[in-house]
Amino acid sequence: MPRKIAAGNWKMHGDGAALAEIDALIAAHPDPGVGIVICPPATLIHRMAERVGNAPIALGGQSCHAARSGAHTGDISAAMLADAGASHVILGHSERRIDHGETDAVILAQTQSARGAGLSVILCVGETAAQRDAGMTLDVVTRQVMGCLPDDIDPSALIMAYEPVWAIGTGRVPDGDQIAQVHGAIRALLLSRLGLAGGQVPILYGGSVKPDNAATIFAIADVDGALVGGAALKAASFSQIITALQSA
Ligand code: PEP
Repeated sequence: MPRKIAAGNWKMHGDGAALAEIDALIAAHPDPGVGIVICPPATLIHRMAERVGNAPIALGGQSCHAARSGAHTGDISAAMLADAGASHVILGHSERRIDHGETDAVILAQTQSARGAGLSVILCVGETAAQRDAGMTLDVVTRQVMGCLPDDIDPSALIMAYEPVWAIGTGRVPDGDQIAQVHGAIRALLLSRLGLAGGQVPILYGGSVKPDNAATIFAIADVDGALVGGAALKAASFSQIITALQSA
């Protein structure tokens, strides 16, 4: 996958009718030159994989259980996501941390399980508004990066996403200096943890990325792309973000 990546997180949105959006995305970007990952609800992964076929769009899950199988009602394993056609999985999203109490230790175990199933991991980190106001942003992000990454992670199967919790779905976006500061800190952590290969790990920004702010965000140092929620649900808006990334 190219270093520049536009990833879409559909969250708990979309049914069979939404597969038309994938058809439109494939038609709009037959040869994108940037990485495109769509993470639909798990119920759509298999059907979406059939629609995507050989087109250059990767599919991902939005979380996975740490176990390969077992008595975990309502959960899904990394191996099941892979079996359905996923090559990626989002882990550590703040909605999972908040709604499901997923701690750094849980996310570490999920990351190990995902890698064991051959999935690439999109690992989300980011501070709450209260943590930013308290001047704790870099401490929080450092703790999350160090706590969620296994020692033996393959850097080529890792994508980082900086997602300030207060920017997700709110229309609020950090300024360029704030994004550059955190992305620079994540890059330094990756280099110290993974050596030179840490310099090649894509670092995406996520939080209210829209067609009208994407180009500005992609021009910020150490921003390799975006993890997009609301604006990824429609091919028309996600396509404009992909186009902005292609020009960055
Ligand atoms: C997200 O949930 O990962 C996200 C970035 O959402 P939105 O783009 O809607 O803020």
